[in-house]
Amino acid sequence: MDYAHIHQEDAEVYAAITGEDKRQAEGLELIPSENYVSLAVREAMASTLTNKYSEGYPGKRYYGGQEFTDNVERLAIARAKELFGAGFANVQPLGGANANIAAYMALMQPGDTILGMDLSHGGHLTHGHPVTYISKVFNFVRYGMKDVETGEIDYDALEATAKETRPKVILAGFSAYPRTLDWKRIADIAHGVDALAVADVAHIAGLIAGEALENPFMHGFDVLTTTTHKTLRGPRGGMILTRDDAEIAKKIDKAVFPGLQGGPHMHQIAAKAISFREALQPSFKTYARDVITNAQAMAEVFKAHGTRLLTGGTDNHLILADVWSSFNISGKDAEHRLDEAGITLNKNSIADDTRGPMDPSGIRFGTPALTTRGFNAEECKEVAELMISVLTNGDEKTITDARTRVKEMADAHPVPESFV
Ligand SMILES: *Cc1c(COP(=O)(O)O)cnc(C)c1O
Repeated sequence: MDYAHIHQEDAEVYAAITGEDKRQAEGLELIPSENYVSLAVREAMASTLTNKYSEGYPGKRYYGGQEFTDNVERLAIARAKELFGAGFANVQPLGGANANIAAYMALMQPGDTILGMDLSHGGHLTHGHPVTYISKVFNFVRYGMKDVETGEIDYDALEATAKETRPKVILAGFSAYPRTLDWKRIADIAHGVDALAVADVAHIAGLIAGEALENPFMHGFDVLTTTTHKTLRGPRGGMILTRDDAEIAKKIDKAVFPGLQGGPHMHQIAAKAISFREALQPSFKTYARDVITNAQAMAEVFKAHGTRLLTGGTDNHLILADVWSSFNISGKDAEHRLDEAGITLNKNSIADDTRGPMDPSGIRFGTPALTTRGFNAEECKEVAELMISVLTNGDEKTITDARTRVKEMADAHPVPESFV
């Protein structure tokens, strides 16, 4: 895209957009919740669908002129269902947070109890962090890991807490947990106390859709919430799926609109439909598998160097490293120093962190974006080695050398324009 009209009309915004384009092209993106979308997805987001009001659902709208918006939303729904083996999909949530809030509203009454992953063990803000409004509406109780070094969830404690607190929902999902969950065990525990099992797969949706990780629906989960822009490689947005329950589906539609949101963003829904079609291609299965292979290759390099990785490694696309104990550098300083070398990732609290949330002990990074650019396991290992050199030694020359090599590797792997 050349942004010719923005260039003509608004030099300030043009400078910001083209600056970001350059940053994304020249650096290495290791934030595990980010990815690169195709040009087809970007064109849909820039389409005239942004002009349209479509409150309601296909065939049941509050405004006229819905011939084409109905079609595009139906396409997105059908493809989402096919991708996840779901009986129902709502593709209107504006993001992952909205999807979670709408799901809570659909499945619970204010004051009801919900059992979710401990936030310091990898849960997301929307899983009831005290700074969120939603934490005041529902009663959040917690489960966590039995052993931080292996990442094993304490399923016995989860079960005991479920029996004791009788939650309406058991929530499984994470933003910073590198291991797989025993979906069946959690679904069984939920159903044993008459709770619904909800999986928030925002981070791993693409790995599930690409069949590189197990699908919670196959193990009895009732509802799945997700973002569409992380490993799923679609536009920024969210969605909610259910396995087969028509009653739950109806409640979810009502909770999203009119319960929580106004008019759906039809340009985003068109972009979702396109990205779902891309994810249905056989090549997406290869992508999903490579994301994990690449993350495991990076983890091996860090482990060989003696770095403390939380949970000891990774089963998915992300890695959590304790840089404070391993490199004697804080998470914030590590983020800053790697940024100078052209490597973008984020500081992250780790379980039992001895430091505060603004400058924690850990960093979190992953391979979805690098894999989209075509990096293989060997190249990911080299990126890990560059990271180790910069974390070990913050002098000018080390950082400049790393930056030069980062630029070369980035140039060798331009962001692909199409995935079909
Ligand atoms: C990213 C994420 C969300 C929130 O998604 P937004 O689109 O940023 O609102 C919710 N849950 C989990 C587990 C996430 O990782």
